[in-house]
Amino acid sequence: MFPLAKTQKSAPRRGTTTLIVTAMLAVVVGFSAISVNVLLHMRKAAWELARQSSENLASTLDADIRRNIDVYDISLRAVVTNIMIPEIGELSPAIRHLILFDQAATAKHFGPLKVFNAAGHLMIDSSALEPAPDRAVNREYFQVHRTDENGGLFVSHPAADAKGEMAVYLSRRISGTDGAFGGVVVGSIRLSYFHDLFRRVKLGPEDSLTLIHRDGFVVMRSPFDIAMVGRDLRGVVGIERIRSEQTGWLEAPGAVDGVPRQFVWRDGGGPLVTLLGKSLASIYDPWQSDAAWILSAMAVLAIVATGASILLAREMRKRSADEHRFALLSITDGLTGLANRRQFDDILQSEWLRNQRNKTSLALLLIDVDYFKIFNDTYGHQGGDRALKQIATTIRHEVQRAADCAARYGGEEFAVILPEATIESAQMVAERIRSAVQAISLDGAHITVSIGIAAVVPASNWQPAELIAATDAALYNAKDAGRNQCRSARPLTPAPGQGSAGLSARSAGDRITAAAG
Ligand code: GH3
Ligand code: MG
Ligand code: MG
Repeated sequence: MFPLAKTQKSAPRRGTTTLIVTAMLAVVVGFSAISVNVLLHMRKAAWELARQSSENLASTLDADIRRNIDVYDISLRAVVTNIMIPEIGELSPAIRHLILFDQAATAKHFGPLKVFNAAGHLMIDSSALEPAPDRAVNREYFQVHRTDENGGLFVSHPAADAKGEMAVYLSRRISGTDGAFGGVVVGSIRLSYFHDLFRRVKLGPEDSLTLIHRDGFVVMRSPFDIAMVGRDLRGVVGIERIRSEQTGWLEAPGAVDGVPRQFVWRDGGGPLVTLLGKSLASIYDPWQSDAAWILSAMAVLAIVATGASILLAREMRKRSADEHRFALLSITDGLTGLANRRQFDDILQSEWLRNQRNKTSLALLLIDVDYFKIFNDTYGHQGGDRALKQIATTIRHEVQRAADCAARYGGEEFAVILPEATIESAQMVAERIRSAVQAISLDGAHITVSIGIAAVVPASNWQPAELIAATDAALYNAKDAGRNQCRSARPLTPAPGQGSAGLSARSAGDRITAAAG
């Protein structure tokens, strides 16, 4: 009905509320993002730590295995060299043993060294001066050395020896001075060596430690499973990389149990690859409990912060609404709900200036209830109040434009500001109000109003009070003329000889003269 321009503060407050809530939510989102980032880093660090410790362990195991193979290989090389001494065949078997076989080849897990001639017949055995007949012609190492002139140390797949003990066989070719195949020297390292070595390593319940021959066959596995010894892993996920790269790591499901593991391997240049598998669960378990704790704490904080922002926003909105309501009350007439006198004065002043700038006509109606004292006396003060409310509703209904302002001017008097309205359009509004009030039935009682009308294009040196005075004068004309009617002030006429500055000295009634008409 009437604008709240000067007192309305809710828009900036709403902006501040949104800003505070957005800032709090941004803080929550920011902290959550940082936490997630930190957790992802922690997860990566856990993975990296596991990889490094596996790498160290694999290197240690690989070095041990390599050292033993090297020691054994020295014995093989010694045999290959010494067997070529021409006189060796003429020595007694005991002396020949002393020359050919050193102490290393007799260590706990090492099998006996045997020399086969070019036809594959067993000629010398470090474990017996008179060896039992044996032929190696169908054995893989024999065939490999026979065809490969330049081949070095050959390490076989795990296989059972004559006593049924599982071992890997290490062999070297014996070549004549002309390079012709002269036979093979072969020894073995029992799998018990690898078994003992692996048993010393403390593994997690789902971790695994495997020794793989470079051609893809399992030599030993911890936890030990006899069925795994000699198993062909070719075709298993990741095995090709393990076979082709000297060292590395990958994530894959275990070939035996499908448990997802981080595999780290190392071979030190030999044919045997030490492969350490750490289950992803064991790597991430500690991280997961930390992550669960941090995420729960973050979730609680986020809920508290979000709840606090919502409560704060609600509180601020409520305060804003209250302020708006109080602001409205401070400019509203308690009985009729129309603008009060204070608001009327403010709006008249601002519309005065606006119409002055726009050089448009500003109209004012002053409405006074006729014989209201008598009405009050007849129907009581409460009946009078009801009548005033009804009249206010009627006026509000007849004043339709958004910029128009209907106010209770005081007692049984009302005022209507009609910005950008000519005297003619103001007269139409006034007449509508007058006849509408006349039509009101208050439990059978009727009431009328008299209306004074004035309109002016405000000049820079005039005051709104002058418009009020002229309207008031027109109202009195309406009263004098018998009431229940509208009277307009005469159009503005500056007094002769008055500059614009001199007008204020004269009464408004002289300049916007009320006229009976
Ligand atoms: P006129 O036609 O000349 O205007 O006569 P009138 O009786 O209306 O004028 P007068 O100024 O003599 O009386 C105005 C009355 O309005 C007196 C007062 O009791 C009554 N009045 C003023 N404010 C209120 C109000 O808020 N409620 C009620 N019920 N009466 C009011
Ligand atoms: Mg009055
Ligand atoms: Mg009156």
